[in-house]
Amino acid sequence: MATAETSAPTVLVADDDATTRLLIAATLRGAGFQVLVASDGIEAIELFDRTDPELLVLDVEMPRASGYEVCSHVRKHPDAGRRNVPVVIATGMDDTVSVNTAYECGATDFVSKPVNMPSLVHRLRYVLRSHAAMQRLLAAEDRSRAMLSAIPDAILQFDAHGVVTAYRGGQGGARLPHLANCAGSNLADLLPEVVAPLIFANSVTPATAGERKSVEFAWLLEGRWAHFEARCVPKAIGETYLFLRDISERKESEERIHRLAYCDSLTGMPNRQAFLETLEREVARATQASQMLAVLFMDLDGFKRVNDTLGHAVGDHLLQTVAARLKQVLRPRDLVARDLVPRDLEQTKLARLGGDEFTILLTDIARPEDAIAVAQRVREEIKRPFSVDSHEIVVSSSIGVSIFPDDGDGAMALVKHADTAMYHAKERGRDNCQLYSASLTTRVVQRVSREKRRRQAHERGGVGGSYQPLIGTVDRAVVGMEALLRWNDPQHGLISPAEFIPVAEESGLIIPIGEWVLRTACAQAVRWQSDAARPVRLAVNLSSVQFRDVGLVATILAILRESGLAPQLLELEVTESALMDDADAAILRMHELEAAGVRLAIDDFGTGYSSMSYLKRFPVGALKIDRSFVSGLPDDAESVAISRAIIAMAHSMKLSVTAEGIETEEQAAVLAGFGCENMQGYHFARPMNAGRATELLRESARALLRLSAA
Ligand code: C2E
Ligand code: MG
Ligand code: MG
Repeated sequence: MATAETSAPTVLVADDDATTRLLIAATLRGAGFQVLVASDGIEAIELFDRTDPELLVLDVEMPRASGYEVCSHVRKHPDAGRRNVPVVIATGMDDTVSVNTAYECGATDFVSKPVNMPSLVHRLRYVLRSHAAMQRLLAAEDRSRAMLSAIPDAILQFDAHGVVTAYRGGQGGARLPHLANCAGSNLADLLPEVVAPLIFANSVTPATAGERKSVEFAWLLEGRWAHFEARCVPKAIGETYLFLRDISERKESEERIHRLAYCDSLTGMPNRQAFLETLEREVARATQASQMLAVLFMDLDGFKRVNDTLGHAVGDHLLQTVAARLKQVLRPRDLVARDLVPRDLEQTKLARLGGDEFTILLTDIARPEDAIAVAQRVREEIKRPFSVDSHEIVVSSSIGVSIFPDDGDGAMALVKHADTAMYHAKERGRDNCQLYSASLTTRVVQRVSREKRRRQAHERGGVGGSYQPLIGTVDRAVVGMEALLRWNDPQHGLISPAEFIPVAEESGLIIPIGEWVLRTACAQAVRWQSDAARPVRLAVNLSSVQFRDVGLVATILAILRESGLAPQLLELEVTESALMDDADAAILRMHELEAAGVRLAIDDFGTGYSSMSYLKRFPVGALKIDRSFVSGLPDDAESVAISRAIIAMAHSMKLSVTAEGIETEEQAAVLAGFGCENMQGYHFARPMNAGRATELLRESARALLRLSAA
């Protein structure tokens, strides 16, 4: 359809009066219009249907059909463009009734008869122009309606008081049925409580007019949480558009991406990246507040074995179970309830770095001991058997600890140093905990042990040494002394080492305690050399934990140097199980000790693996037959057979033999008969203090002197 702006719009003129018809047609043609004419209503209708006029000028009273009827016909046309074509009615009756009727049947305008020709042209041009403008407007509105219904936002318009002046739900409104008739309501009653003020603050102010501000918020809608974005576009002072968009899907995918980037998929725990970022933030906070924090780096001992023997699926399940237990152990209230940490550990953070490595962040600790206490608790918990896929799995853990600010000023450094400390813990025989700074470890362990002693042993008492003589079978003289640890508790009296050594091993305290025994006993042994008429050997027991400590050999050599005791006089007693735990490391360590001249003895022989063949792999100098065989002598045939066999085999391997726990002369006689070199037991002497041991050595020396004089 041509528009009014084009040069020759087509006008349909219908009038039964031929003169009027001709006059109008001529005038319009003269003004540049194309003109179609009809002499009655039906002809006008047929002509309209056949052609496509842009304007109709209709006489009211015509034969067959009136101008009103033609107009009504036009307005019923199925094509919207044609239906809306402007219709001007020329009425001879200049009365309101016919004007009203003209409008009622859809006329656009009317002119009164007789028609003023010059003004008719202007009138029609004006009608065409305004019709075209209206069409453009309608088209534009159509477009924006289509656009608005396509965008996923619900649109609110509100005034300076927060009162909604208009609302268009559109597609976005589907999720917000409660906004359907919100015009007139206040924003505060429509949006979540905390959101409305934010949005209102973002609404129009002279400074922000035209700026966009957006707020994202969660919204509980019909029992489900949805995420929305609210964008404010201040239009003019006092008037703001608010676009509400459901961004739940975007949020979900953002969360998925976040989970992928920051979550360990196996355990659902934070991963390395998440831990480092949290740690970095906490370090910054601790720096500001001058606080101390600790990073615990935990690695399972022997996890590879679980994987290798039971398969990766079981390994994975074990890790998940470990993670769950760690979460349980580190539940802040739990820790506080157990009085393991003095303050609120709301900030405990846990992550899996990969493999069997976990990290724990302890914020705002008062002393490194707090971290050690948590580490010990974790170790204890990890040691409880895990039930995984119908397997009962027992693992231990090695934990390294780094402390901020002492051990590093950034997240990377702290994690790295905690890792180093963890390796140190592994070297120290696994199943223990080490601080990054070794000197700090010793200091803290000593302090802990002092505190423990204070707590447990009250004022007096504590750790002490006791010595039990080793007797030469032939001359029954004292050939050596075995140092035996004593715990003297004023309340409970002497506590057996069998009872407290496992506890000391557990806590790692056995390392400093063991050093103390060695140092004290070596110094004592040096003094004894002058008291006895012959060299006195010193036997010292080593725990398996000490034996796995890579620092052991260096410590022993240093103590020998300090005390001046000849290495050949020192005999270290180790149990079979200590050797078997980590046979390769044990062999290495034993060779180093042997090279230094120190002799090694297998303690409690016969209670462990008791295989002579494996002994060939170890540089052992002596065996101590366990008391359980000796006690059966002389009557129990099996004990007799076993003792005899052990002694014979030991001799074939050039090992010397000591029998432990001899309580009667009969036992001593049987063992002497089998060729056992040394004896030990209550029959000869009970463990005694250093002073009594010195006296005994002097007596023994005198007896020997008498013997040689006789
Ligand atoms: P062990 O090295 O086999 O020491 C011998 C144990 O037998 C000692 O017990 C000793 O008092 C006891 N005994 C000696 N003769 C007789 C006897 O005729 N009859 C009976 N019934 N018992 C006798 P104690 O002192 O209670 O020590 C128990 C264990 O604790 C030791 O066994 C040793 O394995 C460990 N132990 C002792 N001191 C130390 C130490 O300084 N370091 C380490 N790592 N372990 C130690
Ligand atoms: Mg012993
Ligand atoms: Mg023994």
